[in-house]
Amino acid sequence: MRAEIIATGTELLSGTLDTNSIFISEELMLIGIETAFKTVVGDNGKDMEEALRIALGRVDVVIVTGGLGPTEDDVTREAVSAVLKKQLVPDGEALKSIRAFFIRRGREYIQANDKQALMPEGALLISNSVGVAPGFLIDYKACTLAVLPGVPREMKTMFTEVLASMLEDRFGGKIFIRRRILRTCGIFESMVNRAIEDLLKRGQPVIGLSAKETGVDIRIIARATSADRVKTMIDETEAEIRSRLGILVYGVDGIEMEETVGDLLTARGLKVAVAESCTAGLISRRLTNVAGSSAYFERSAITYSNISKHEMLGVPLELIERFGAVSAEVVAVMAKGIQSAAHVDLGLAVTGIAGPDGGSDAKPVGLVYLALATTQDVKTEEHRLLGGREQIRLRASQMALDMVRRHLLKA
Ligand code: ATP
Ligand code: MG
Repeated sequence: MRAEIIATGTELLSGTLDTNSIFISEELMLIGIETAFKTVVGDNGKDMEEALRIALGRVDVVIVTGGLGPTEDDVTREAVSAVLKKQLVPDGEALKSIRAFFIRRGREYIQANDKQALMPEGALLISNSVGVAPGFLIDYKACTLAVLPGVPREMKTMFTEVLASMLEDRFGGKIFIRRRILRTCGIFESMVNRAIEDLLKRGQPVIGLSAKETGVDIRIIARATSADRVKTMIDETEAEIRSRLGILVYGVDGIEMEETVGDLLTARGLKVAVAESCTAGLISRRLTNVAGSSAYFERSAITYSNISKHEMLGVPLELIERFGAVSAEVVAVMAKGIQSAAHVDLGLAVTGIAGPDGGSDAKPVGLVYLALATTQDVKTEEHRLLGGREQIRLRASQMALDMVRRHLLKA
């Protein structure tokens, strides 16, 4: 089964990133449908008709997003109607749910919204539980066409709640495709490549690498004719990769480093406090992004200036003068300072040069020192990170959280 995704919206041709297609192609893959084409077309009826005609002639499934709203520039319905030569008729159920949406919110009903209940004759409704415009699915010759709104949140909800099972019924079960992502930190892409070169070359399951700010993600994609077989293939490949990379793998699929660290802290019953210079709160923000983090996150201090490092963390000014604010000596005292001030098990600290200015030959942009203090000792690490200011800050926060993770795994 091959699909084409048509993203509509003039904004997508100039500036706005078409993220809908990325989501849809991944979801289609899980149903066993391969995306063969992605098309982006502006809010122009004639262009959209042309895009639809081409798509309907070359694939089995066409998914369109956007242009279902009540305004003049929303022309998807009309374009579908013209190409399929099906009249637009109001759908009773859709009309009811559109009106109910306005009543629920205590908003005055505007008649123009009735337009959103129009569907080509014979179409099946794809209800929208989080917005106004419903979508629809219709068969045309040997092809299935589904139309969803453009608002990403609505599109995603409708895809997973309604459309996925409609497509599964029609096309699923013939071939099973599953994907798993292993997330690594602290190893370069070239090193991952070398470590699993034979698996990459084997080609089944397909393994792909993508280097991110947070580390290298390893994607495993398996296809087979049974769900069990696919799962076994993925499990075996994961086990093999883990046996080679060990502690470098910090999570699976959408898991973030801060969640893994949170789980480990919870399991060990330990608390952490953070002192941040160059990351200015990013580490603390990430830790507290996780629900339930109050169980292990005690406090943080953003100590950007020298004097704040002295006053809040007890770093002697002479130490800063002698070694510089970006040094292993200073970061160690910062970590110890926050750990003892907060009376917690772990004190994490970071200081570095995020750039673009402020670097020197001895201390270039991207030089970052991390420290982790326990009640017994302090460990420090030096990293030389690449990228612009934001990348360096994100990478520093990732390496700092990873330092906690590695400590907890060994402890
Ligand atoms: P609807 O079908 O829900 O009426 P629409 O196309 O009429 O959608 P717009 O007002 O054009 O709605 O878009 C709503 C929001 O969704 C905008 O912020 C738009 O940028 C965003 N959006 C639309 N399509 C996409 C896409 N393919 N990827 C990412 N964002 C999108
Ligand atoms: Mg639009």
